[in-house]
Amino acid sequence: MARRQFLRQSAAGAAVIASSELVSGSDSSPQPRAAGKGDGNISTDADVLVVGGGTAGTIAAIQSARAGAKTVLLERNGQLGGTTTVGGVAFPGLFHAWGKQIIAGIGWELVSESVAMDGGKLPDFTKPPGAHWRHQVQVNQFLYSILAEEKCLKAGVKIVYYEFPLSIAKATGGWLVESVGPGTRRKIACKQLVDCTGGADVVGMLDMPRLREKETQPGSMLFKCGGSYSPGREQLRAVYVHGADSSNSITRTQANLDGRKSLLARLRKKPARLIHMQSEAAFRESYRIVGETIITHKDYVSGRPFKDAVCYAFYPVDLHTRSGVRPKQLGKGVLPTIPLGALVPKNSRNIIVAGRCVSSDRLANSGLRVQAPCMAMGQAAGAAAALASQQKTTPLDVSLKDIRGLLRRNGAIVPGA
Ligand SMILES: Cc1cc2nc3c(=O)[nH]c(=O)nc-3n(C[C@H](O)[C@H](O)[C@H](O)COP(=O)(O)OP(=O)(O)OC[C@H]3O[C@@H](n4cnc5c(N)ncnc54)[C@H](O)[C@@H]3O)c2cc1C
Repeated sequence: MARRQFLRQSAAGAAVIASSELVSGSDSSPQPRAAGKGDGNISTDADVLVVGGGTAGTIAAIQSARAGAKTVLLERNGQLGGTTTVGGVAFPGLFHAWGKQIIAGIGWELVSESVAMDGGKLPDFTKPPGAHWRHQVQVNQFLYSILAEEKCLKAGVKIVYYEFPLSIAKATGGWLVESVGPGTRRKIACKQLVDCTGGADVVGMLDMPRLREKETQPGSMLFKCGGSYSPGREQLRAVYVHGADSSNSITRTQANLDGRKSLLARLRKKPARLIHMQSEAAFRESYRIVGETIITHKDYVSGRPFKDAVCYAFYPVDLHTRSGVRPKQLGKGVLPTIPLGALVPKNSRNIIVAGRCVSSDRLANSGLRVQAPCMAMGQAAGAAAALASQQKTTPLDVSLKDIRGLLRRNGAIVPGA
């Protein structure tokens, strides 16, 4: 089928989820060694398509596949982990609050296994941390991404690197997504979409409303000078990248140029040998979705127990500005929750998000965006999407009992009964 014809059919909503007829090369094996035939045109079908294999998306894909859903993970880079690995923020937190573990499940499994295999050390969670970051976990970013990949493949996730969605259209029973990558054009027919792109790219492509500040928090370019870099044992240094914006390739390019330029200026001012630099800038903030529920600062700092909570979150309110950051600790005993409604774009069907784009106001987001809650959201979104595809419904209509049951069977800590 010609591309124009595909788009016309998709736009008319006439296409049905039966993608094997879409193009010549069908790519239905879990992880084929070679792409489709000749011209790079491939078709793939899935119950659940996760876009973005970063902090949240990796976990979402594993959960979805472990729940028995045919799962495809589309990642524009060449490895998993996103900000945790490619960004170099290999310091996930916080899994513990007030003396007990509050986030576990697949994210914790991956973090703790990578620490153990690396011969690293977990913080002593029995003691009050003093500074909150002392309870974050140092992981070896390289090992983490390999283990993440292994877990995905073992669960049956089909990983597609170097591709990103070019068009998305509604189809009977789900979506038709056209993705592109070097030498590849793929049509993916899926029942459920999980947007884990960090900046809600998929939600944006569907013209659903998103929130964004005029000036976003600075990003950072992470690096190390002098001595040697010991991943999993130290936190990298960082230069702020003001105006860093992950919205599109133009703004991402600019952030990388700016980050490297300020690092060079620093090296000229304070000469030192540059021995390590991440391959791209890490982004703190861009778009957030407008969900069925918007988590407010008041909800966050009061630890509002949402009725449809699917996980906990714990971190200070942590807003970076041009002059730095002054984390504001949560009051004693406060334990915020994240509702399913904050992962579902308002008035949508068959789509859910996870990660830093969670529906929340800016101050709430500054605490919610850290890695342990992103992983917990990822697991919840993966569970809801898998169940929705199996029950032929939309994530918001899956019973909480089913979602929470599936999450608990997969090791997650879930608020509510
Ligand atoms: C400098 C910095 C320091 C931080 N410090 C900490 C800390 O100490 N501890 C902590 O826990 N958290 C920290 N955070 C926050 C945390 O790291 C991030 O908020 C979190 O990792 C975001 O996870 P995510 O899954 O939403 O996005 P990401 O991990 O960024 O994943 C998004 C993924 O989607 C992919 N992608 C994007 N668009 C597309 C597309 N169109 N198609 C296909 N793939 C796409 C990306 O390549 C990426 O892999 C920090 C963040 C920054 C930037």
